[in-house]
Amino acid sequence: MTVVLSTLVLNAQKRINPFFVKYQTPFQVPPFDKIDTSDYMPAFLEGMKQQNAEIATIVKNTAAPTFANTILAFDQSGKLLTRVAKVFFNLNEANTSDQMQSLARKLSPLLSKHSDDIALNAKLFKRIKAVYEKRKISKLDAQQIRLVEKYYRDFERQGANLTKEKQEQLRKLNAELSMLSITFGENLLAENNNFQLVIDNRNDLEGLPEDVIAAAAQTAKEAKMDGKWVFTLDKPSMIPFLQYAKNRELREKIYRGYFMRGNNGNKNDNNETVAKIAKLRVEKARLLGFDSYAAYIIDDNMAKTPAKVDEFLMKLWNAALPMSKKEVEEMQKIIDREGGNFKLQPWDWWYYSEKVRKEKYDLDDNELKPYFSLTNVRDGMFHVATQLYGITFTKRTDLPVFQKDVETYEVKEANGKHLGILYLDYYPRAEKRGGAWCTDFRSSGWEDGKKVDAIESVTFNLTKPTGDIPALLNWDEVTTMFHEFGHSLHGLFVEGKYTRTAGNVPQDYVELPSQVMENWAGEPEVLRYYAKNYKTGEVIPEKLIEKIQNSGRFNQGFITLEYLAASILDMDFHELTQPKDINVETFEKQAMDKIGLIPEILPRYRSTYFAHIFNGGYAAGYYVYIWAAVLDADAFDAFKQSGDIYNKALAAKFRKYCLAESGDDEGMIQYKKFRGQEPSVEALLKRRGLE
Ligand SMILES: [Zn+2]
Repeated sequence: MTVVLSTLVLNAQKRINPFFVKYQTPFQVPPFDKIDTSDYMPAFLEGMKQQNAEIATIVKNTAAPTFANTILAFDQSGKLLTRVAKVFFNLNEANTSDQMQSLARKLSPLLSKHSDDIALNAKLFKRIKAVYEKRKISKLDAQQIRLVEKYYRDFERQGANLTKEKQEQLRKLNAELSMLSITFGENLLAENNNFQLVIDNRNDLEGLPEDVIAAAAQTAKEAKMDGKWVFTLDKPSMIPFLQYAKNRELREKIYRGYFMRGNNGNKNDNNETVAKIAKLRVEKARLLGFDSYAAYIIDDNMAKTPAKVDEFLMKLWNAALPMSKKEVEEMQKIIDREGGNFKLQPWDWWYYSEKVRKEKYDLDDNELKPYFSLTNVRDGMFHVATQLYGITFTKRTDLPVFQKDVETYEVKEANGKHLGILYLDYYPRAEKRGGAWCTDFRSSGWEDGKKVDAIESVTFNLTKPTGDIPALLNWDEVTTMFHEFGHSLHGLFVEGKYTRTAGNVPQDYVELPSQVMENWAGEPEVLRYYAKNYKTGEVIPEKLIEKIQNSGRFNQGFITLEYLAASILDMDFHELTQPKDINVETFEKQAMDKIGLIPEILPRYRSTYFAHIFNGGYAAGYYVYIWAAVLDADAFDAFKQSGDIYNKALAAKFRKYCLAESGDDEGMIQYKKFRGQEPSVEALLKRRGLE
């Protein structure tokens, strides 16, 4: 439809709001240098208005519903809204300000109302349903049928097919569940903050590194306890204490504080909240026609059924359990050798595994860092992509950036054809949130019958250069770069025609493109290419390569088992098929006894502080991390097995089925097109030393 420029377009200075016109930049990247914070709100309002008008046109159409006049029209709606939202939300994370944050708070209710209005638009659903019912006899191609089915399922999963009364019931359940989830989060936050380990005797700090002690003194100072040391339940404070503190009683004290959160029988107790959430979720799932909440969630995922997930988790469990028992034995030997005269307990694990690490796996970051200058690592990941896919990266200095440190690259196919743009933003700053992530300023897709290329953006918080020393990365940072770069390759390669399906993959697939790239980062052949001393150019010594390879096997029994225990607990809560009142503590104990969890290990999250599933988006989905790890190990294994980690034929298949066409069919089907079979857990077990 034609864009009607409202009065909002022009502000007092007769300046054109850059979101309202086609970007006048190379490759039509966002004109960051021309965007003013005051441009966002008018663009959002106009964007919502335009989409509402577009949907009204669909709904009011007197012609019978067709793919073109309903599904495609809906898929193509909201272009302006998407354009402004992509810039605003990316910048609010990577380069925010007080103004941006207050704008985000104002926008949040407006945008959720906007999307609710669409999801609950009965007339729109009626037309979508009409197309859906005739989809098989309407001469649609496979991609069109998939698009119709996706939209139909989206509405159905939100209750569009229910009777008025049931929709009312669902709305009540959703409201109640969202309140309970807020309560869970508030209780957990209070419990987290209610605990402090205060130390006033210097002897109790024995074993702790100086920087850990200094951080604890700083925390004490902030809490107006000058001269003391304070440790909290935040992981950066607690983990080093568990790892290094010689005082065993204090280790127990802080760990007990941690694993009893939300389970202390006080006003912040989460037991009742958890029980209610589990119960209401069964009700919701049954209302929507599923046996359990897990069935409702996983139906949308690659795994498809809870039974498939259970089987998968147990396979890994059975492999990891013996290894964790071996790890216990190994640590018990150290305790006995040191004359400890006690049995290893959960609060001893970090302390004694650190001793094992020092003895067997010592990988010193300071030894590695000179080989991992940021530019070398960046060139290394580009090199891997060139070897695999033939694509090239050309640095551009003529594209507007949102911050002066940001680098821009044009990505081209082997034959020189433009593929997309990549923004790389490396260093921490006050305006950027923590972590690393990949987003886009424009997704690859089709507009007016023409392909639109992706503009990907990767944001990191990597070690900065200091003085004349370039940015030198630790191993974690190196793999993070490869990981996020993998997400960006996914975005660059996507070829689907429709917004809803192009590159749109389920939660248990999304980390495959990223994690798979981490495998190349640590391959000896690849390391020898990019890991060169920043001063001398010397290639990384073989001894260090070996250490990097070995480090992946340290403590893997524990890491795998505590994660799996939490995943299985998550599944148990969400595989309930009848709404009933459970006693959370008993429920958890039974779940863990059933699988034979050893007493030296607790689930990574116990029920009353399992925020991923009770106050986050991972209900019946905590398994996805290891599911994706199985996929990436299995996918990389195909390259290893072929004897060539740069096998071009395999890379072409991976690109086509797992990246470019990733949204074209269900995740498992796409994966099988690449691999010829379902993924097997063997490669992951081997990588973790669990076979
Ligand atoms: Zn990721």
